[in-house]
Amino acid sequence: MVKILVAGFKGRMGHTTVEMVLDHPDFELVGVYDPRSTEKNLNEISEFSKLNVPAYHQLSNIDTQKVEVWIDFTSPKAVFENVKFALEHHISPVVGTTGLKDEQVAQLQQIAKKNQVGGLIAPNFGISAVLLMQFAKQAAKYLPDVEIIEMHHDNKLDAPSGTALNTAKMIAEVRSEHYQGNPNETELLPGARGANYQGMRIHSVRLPGYVAHEQVLFGGPGEALTIRQDSFDRSSFMSGVAVAVSKISKQHELLVGLENLL
Ligand code: NAP
Repeated sequence: MVKILVAGFKGRMGHTTVEMVLDHPDFELVGVYDPRSTEKNLNEISEFSKLNVPAYHQLSNIDTQKVEVWIDFTSPKAVFENVKFALEHHISPVVGTTGLKDEQVAQLQQIAKKNQVGGLIAPNFGISAVLLMQFAKQAAKYLPDVEIIEMHHDNKLDAPSGTALNTAKMIAEVRSEHYQGNPNETELLPGARGANYQGMRIHSVRLPGYVAHEQVLFGGPGEALTIRQDSFDRSSFMSGVAVAVSKISKQHELLVGLENLL
């Protein structure tokens, strides 16, 4: 049994993760963490009333000896300290929270290396999103002019999405940086052309009703290609999280991207 703590257990993803861990025959939920929660035990929440799982509000109170894997679905502001804490206590982090900066990821990778702990940061645990990124990288070799549109629910805190940024980074590995559009173009409204990553434009849509969706648009002379993925339900991310938890104990570094474990 893999002993798991879920950080951000009262959030949308955290709650779905708690359910997945409880249903999985090889996983044991040994703790949940959220500094702003009031519960001392998960059984204070009616749907989990038959369980006995401690709820922690402070990192320093967590019984780290009991935890093997730290699943993090928290917030861009919290994730760095959480993952640092896990790594320093030889707990393998499986991180879905987006918004970590490149320099923070590099710092966490150093800490993982120093402590010889494996972990995974995955901007997207959905298999359709992982495939979209791989297909987009393949297509950009032949169609280097590309724009990305990502669409999410309107409670999302970071923009662009981690998946969109990761898609752009993967595409940048196979295409050289170049300006797209008319060099003399003017934005009549600021931001009309979207964010700029090495010449690729990224557009972030935030609307109620959406979950997580992405389109990558390629244009070439006389032709176009659109690759699209849709995550309609948060449960779609859970098979990826489960795979990561099952495989992470064999790793000795902090990996970025679920594709590294598939
Ligand atoms: P959410 O509903 O806002 O949940 C985040 C939860 O974390 C909230 O309950 C929040 O509590 C709690 N929290 C805040 N600070 C914390 C801390 N220091 N330690 C522990 N918990 C803390 O957000 P969500 O929709 O579940 O998304 C969470 C993250 O997952 C986001 O970054 C999102 O982009 C990402 N995500 C990733 C994937 C993927 O496949 N990788 C898929 C979907 C979403 P308060 O409300 O009290 O602040």
